[in-house]
Amino acid sequence: MAPRTAPFAPAAVRVPDASTAAGPAQEATLPGLAELTSALACAVHAPAVLVTVDPTLEDGALAYGTGCDSVPRVVLGAELLADEMRLRGVLAHEIAHHALAHGRGAIHRWQIASHVAGGAALAAVIIGLPVWMVLACAAAAIGAHLAAARVQRREEYDADTYSVQLLEAAGLDGRAIVATTLAAVPQETRWYRLAGWIGGSHPTPDARRRNIAHSRRALVLSIRS
Ligand SMILES: [Zn+2]
Repeated sequence: MAPRTAPFAPAAVRVPDASTAAGPAQEATLPGLAELTSALACAVHAPAVLVTVDPTLEDGALAYGTGCDSVPRVVLGAELLADEMRLRGVLAHEIAHHALAHGRGAIHRWQIASHVAGGAALAAVIIGLPVWMVLACAAAAIGAHLAAARVQRREEYDADTYSVQLLEAAGLDGRAIVATTLAAVPQETRWYRLAGWIGGSHPTPDARRRNIAHSRRALVLSIRS
C-alpha cells in the first residue's frame, strides 16, 4: 500500500555531494523516500523533516537537531537505499526518536549526575578523604551511569514501538516493516547478550523483537511547532 501523502508537511531528501550520488536503484528509491518522509512528518505533526544520506554510515542512521532551527534531521546510511523495507523501518525509527524527544531530559540528568559523582570521587582521593567517602561517590557515579544507560535502552524500545504506529499512520504495514528491519540488525556478542541489559546503551536485537511482539505502547509526544 502506498503511503498517504501529507498535504502540508514539506520534507526534503538530500544526497550530499557528487561522491554520494545515487545509483540507478537508489534513484528509484529516493522519490518514495521523500513521500514517506512527508507522510511520517505529518504523522508526528512536524512542519518538516530533513533527511540526508551519508555513505560513511553504511547501513546505520542517526537523528539529530541543531540549535539554529527546530527542523528534525535524520541521516541515513547509503546502503539503506538498496533495501526499501529497512529504509522505511529505519527512517520511521529515527523520526520516532525526534517525536518522543529522545536524547534529552532524563538521560542528560543522569549523565551529569554520573560525571559530578565521578569528579567528587576523584577529588576525595586527591584531598585524602576517608575511603568510605570515595567508595560512596564512586558507587553513585556508577549507579547514575547505569540509570542513564537504562533510559537509553528504554528509548530504543519506545522508538521501535512508536515507529510501528507511525508507519501504520502512513498507510503501511508497520509491524512487518519493523520486524524485517530488526531481523537485519546483527546479533550482539555473547557477552553483550548476557550482560548488556545491565549497562549497555542499546538493547539486543532479540530484546527489541520481543518488545515489538508484546505491542507495548510508547509514550507519545508529538513534535508540534
Ligand atoms: Zn534508535
